[in-house]
Amino acid sequence: MAATGLRMGVVGGSIAGCAMAIAGTRAGADVTVYERSDGELQDRGLGIVVPPALHGELVALGYLDAAMPTAPVTEHVWLTRSPGRGRTREIARQPSPVTPCNWGRLWQSLRENAGGARHHRGRPVVSVERAAAGGALVRTAAGEAVYDIVVGADGHRSLTRQAIAPGLRPSPAGYLVWRGTIPMSVVAGAPRQLELLRKAWITLGFPGGHGIFYLIPGVAGTDPDDRLLAYAIYFRGPTGAGDPAPHVREIAEEHFPDEWADIVARGEHASLVCHPVTDLHAPRAADPPFVLAGDAAGITRPHTASGAVKALQDALCLEGALGACASPAEALLRYGTERTAEGSRLVELGRRLGAAQVERTPDWGAMGQAEVDAWFRAALAGTKSYLYEG
Ligand SMILES: Cc1cc2nc3c(=O)[nH]c(=O)nc-3n(C[C@H](O)[C@H](O)[C@H](O)COP(=O)(O)OP(=O)(O)OC[C@H]3O[C@@H](n4cnc5c(N)ncnc54)[C@H](O)[C@@H]3O)c2cc1C
Repeated sequence: MAATGLRMGVVGGSIAGCAMAIAGTRAGADVTVYERSDGELQDRGLGIVVPPALHGELVALGYLDAAMPTAPVTEHVWLTRSPGRGRTREIARQPSPVTPCNWGRLWQSLRENAGGARHHRGRPVVSVERAAAGGALVRTAAGEAVYDIVVGADGHRSLTRQAIAPGLRPSPAGYLVWRGTIPMSVVAGAPRQLELLRKAWITLGFPGGHGIFYLIPGVAGTDPDDRLLAYAIYFRGPTGAGDPAPHVREIAEEHFPDEWADIVARGEHASLVCHPVTDLHAPRAADPPFVLAGDAAGITRPHTASGAVKALQDALCLEGALGACASPAEALLRYGTERTAEGSRLVELGRRLGAAQVERTPDWGAMGQAEVDAWFRAALAGTKSYLYEG
């Protein structure tokens, strides 16, 4: 095993950081995690969708607890507003088995299973650099330490990435996403929508953008009916400045069918954030002794629902490479080859999905099942997405 006794420093203790800490520990390394935030990260609770097979694999390997609640659905339903009316029109339906999770509970489960690592909370890393005697030096306000491997799991503005790709910054896609959750008490007042959401995730198309809606587990408890309605609304409209809640309601009122606009209007929005959609691809996911994971390695537009998925797969890849290769350097090179290619594929996929669904939205009202199937096949152009495999 290449990692036995290896010292591994991880910058960032979110999804990617905790998953990489589990990978390193399982491979035999002595792992230290530095997390800038001193708060509880589970408060970031939003929706995260993962493929069922990946969820199963992570549970089987002990990255995630089997008890972590999920809200699986099997279909994807495309809706729009009937022309000139406030009614909902279903335009297409496709098989799409996915496992929606609550971001906070996903993080919590990873964090608990990363207990074999040392965790420093509220400890921002101020610099990373190659050490003269090999490995890399990690500096914080509390001191410095040398590691054989340093994992950059420090998100989209990664400091660690600067050691591999100096100056690389995310590129804006030219549109915004509003993301939040709505309590079930609101959805309970809309029984037809609730029935649909129990089986499917929804795309609601409108001119210049679309909204995604799906149920996720609540922030606490194990009751299968403890759910939140998660949404992400993509639009090339208003600037996004100021309080996002009124913007979301305006978009919904102007473009959504009445029943869906009502849900959005009545919802007391939680975790509501608005941010520009961006993407980024680091030219190398590893350059020993540095390794990048999650958003630090690359940002795919959220239409792929694959940022956290990639972070989790990054961890599985690192564990596999450390277990199979004769030396850490060989393992990191193997990781770099596999994960750089995957990052590049996902950035391309995100651009295709964004172009089709936001930058050049189709005439949703003119489409039916056959048109949606053909349009989406053309948008994917042979690129694979677990969301659209059906
Ligand atoms: C609208 C939207 C919907 C999405 N939906 C999905 C989905 O359905 N499925 C999916 O797989 N993905 C989805 N994603 C993407 C996913 O949320 C991210 O890719 C994922 O959370 C990134 O995790 P990360 O650990 O790499 O980064 P982050 O969660 O950003 O964590 C980085 C961590 O590093 C810490 N940090 C930063 N700098 C330092 C430093 N110098 N020292 C110490 N710590 C530091 C930060 O405090 C933070 O905790 C979505 C994204 C968006 C915007």
